[in-house]
Amino acid sequence: MYITTTIPYVNARPHLGHALELVQADVLARHHRRRGEPVRFQTGTDDNSLKNVLAAEAAGVEVRELVDRNAAAFEGLRGALDLSFDSFIRTSTHPGHRAGVERIWRATAHDLYTRHYEGLYCVGCEQFYPEGPCPDGHEAPLQQVSETNWFFRLSRYQDELLDLIRSGRLRVEPAARRNEVLAFVAAGLDDISVSRSAARARGWGIPVPGDPAQVVYVWWDALANYVTALDDAGYERWWVREPRKVHLVGKGVIRFHAVYWPAMLLSAGLPLPTAIFVHDYLTAGGRKISKSSGNAADPAALVHAYGVDAVRWWLLREVPRVGDADFTDARLVARADEDLANGLGNLVSRVAVMVCRFLDGHVPPAGEPLAEVSREVHEALEDVDFRRAARAVWQLVEGANAYVERTRPWQQDTAGREKSLGTLVGACRELAVQLEPFLPGAAARVAAAVGGDRLSRPEPLFPRLSRP
Ligand SMILES: [Zn+2]
Repeated sequence: MYITTTIPYVNARPHLGHALELVQADVLARHHRRRGEPVRFQTGTDDNSLKNVLAAEAAGVEVRELVDRNAAAFEGLRGALDLSFDSFIRTSTHPGHRAGVERIWRATAHDLYTRHYEGLYCVGCEQFYPEGPCPDGHEAPLQQVSETNWFFRLSRYQDELLDLIRSGRLRVEPAARRNEVLAFVAAGLDDISVSRSAARARGWGIPVPGDPAQVVYVWWDALANYVTALDDAGYERWWVREPRKVHLVGKGVIRFHAVYWPAMLLSAGLPLPTAIFVHDYLTAGGRKISKSSGNAADPAALVHAYGVDAVRWWLLREVPRVGDADFTDARLVARADEDLANGLGNLVSRVAVMVCRFLDGHVPPAGEPLAEVSREVHEALEDVDFRRAARAVWQLVEGANAYVERTRPWQQDTAGREKSLGTLVGACRELAVQLEPFLPGAAARVAAAVGGDRLSRPEPLFPRLSRP
């Protein structure tokens, strides 16, 4: 499976919404790897946006300096969030990106033409709107732009796009988002402007092949990353032969991924992605969280304060498949203490302590499995429902804790104890396996606590986060 996230603008540092998409993609990547499937997980940054240029001007620094600094903060999430991506592409420095964008541009030349254009441009969205204000909530007034640009004959691909999405050859999930895309396409597609004057872009970006007075529209440039990041062999393996190519995207950029990008590929005669999984947004304390809203949370700081398990767990266990989720520190702390410190941590600790006390640490033969959750986890992840998948893993924790209360090993005779504790050690080991895609660090600690033939008394697996 080839799994990508969107590549964010780097006009600011990453916020928790970026962490959500990265962690979701990481869970998919880890889950499919452990099933023995070949996986490539790719993320990166969109360095060539006009937003980056304007942010650098506002901050009084060189564009290159601002872009390098913020891109490093995104790449640094790998360590902070325990991400397992295989490749991180930066569109301003990746050696193959510019040539790849030019190649796609030339391959679509039959659908490109120049036209004078006047419109209202939102720099926040990097797109034109027929009228203001920006429907996405950007407060800066839309810019009146009047210039000659290159246009792409998007209108030509309306029927093909409808057919692709309706037939499921291009899967768009969840269904509400698919219907939204279908309605947009069915209402009729206008050709889109796909270049900017180099002057307006302050010379930042990729020049249009054969027309250096124009730079390639940043969305065209950014979307191309899904193929330009691949070298020749990688392109053949992951874009031509790979049967599952999945883009994870936020709801604000569906149109770019489910309409513009497939149309570009159709025009260029290139293979298409197979699925677009759309997540909703996070708010923080009831307010919009985004790098331009001034209300940005800092995932690295959150991890520093609460630990990576607590942050990943909140994102996976609390954020619904459909609908926005509101983040507060208190919610993260409450969820981590209830599930991780109390639920999972207590379970593993009790089981190891009982094995030590009653069986001198010797692990008895494994009993019957308590619950079979791996299929439910897989089905939930096929359905891109991370919360349902996390809940399925949680049934195992609850089932095991209930089993302790029901069997009360401390009151049983030796044979009864051996049977109960064998079952419980088996359940904890299965938990370590099932948790791995979600909480890789915690899963390794659980595995260490209940692994081997002889257990010792474990250190607490999770700190209690709430203050007494
Ligand atoms: Zn906007």
